[in-house]
Amino acid sequence: MIKLVRRGKPGILETNQGVWQQALDLAIKKYGGYGSIPQKERESLVSHYRHEKIKEGLVESSGEKCAFCESKPGESGNIEVEHFLPKSIYPSLTFEWGNFLPSCRKCNGSKSDHDTGADPIVNPYDIDPDSVFYYRDIQIKAIGDNVLGETTIRVCGLNSVRLMRPRAEILVALHDFSESIREAIEDYRSCTTELQRTNRARKIYESIERIELISSRDERYSGFCKSYLQACEPYCEAKKLIAERNG
Ligand SMILES: [Zn+2]
Repeated sequence: MIKLVRRGKPGILETNQGVWQQALDLAIKKYGGYGSIPQKERESLVSHYRHEKIKEGLVESSGEKCAFCESKPGESGNIEVEHFLPKSIYPSLTFEWGNFLPSCRKCNGSKSDHDTGADPIVNPYDIDPDSVFYYRDIQIKAIGDNVLGETTIRVCGLNSVRLMRPRAEILVALHDFSESIREAIEDYRSCTTELQRTNRARKIYESIERIELISSRDERYSGFCKSYLQACEPYCEAKKLIAERNG
């Protein structure tokens, strides 16, 4: 999970939010509650929140990834418009821009009707996940076992096999990178001429660029990659070496 920045409210919502909400409120009043509206009628009343323009504004802000697990469409189902505070409990927030998140089908399904008002989880638009989580091996953990983090992991299923498997694959690639960059640094240190050093340094620089590409914020599971790199000694040493060379 990484920190996201909410985009401006889409025009379609700006124009129609009031009308859509009013129609829903009338039905709630008529049937005596959100859950009592006949399913077909309810579906037709709420369906506007899935408008293409609303979804577009959300996926643009997340690099087309799930806000919770950072999977890309196809891995964990398509990205859906998710209500952070569930509409079944908070129907007045059914068309509220600030209550929307882009979520994969798996996280959405796992979160389901969990009452985030009563038992909060991390909303990456509002809270920086770096202040709540860390990674140990291929598992995401709550810093100091904090309740907010623990609840988020449990409610969204952030340590399920579907997520640990790709993390393990990425981990193999990162270990491999770490090892090769360590060797490249040793190689650099053993150079006897400036020309050799320049060539080795270029290779190190290219390796850094490649690895940083897979941890860039639009890439899947970038939070996991970033966390690994921050703790990766050969990577930090290589960065320092290049910075020193560039003076
Ligand atoms: Zn997800």
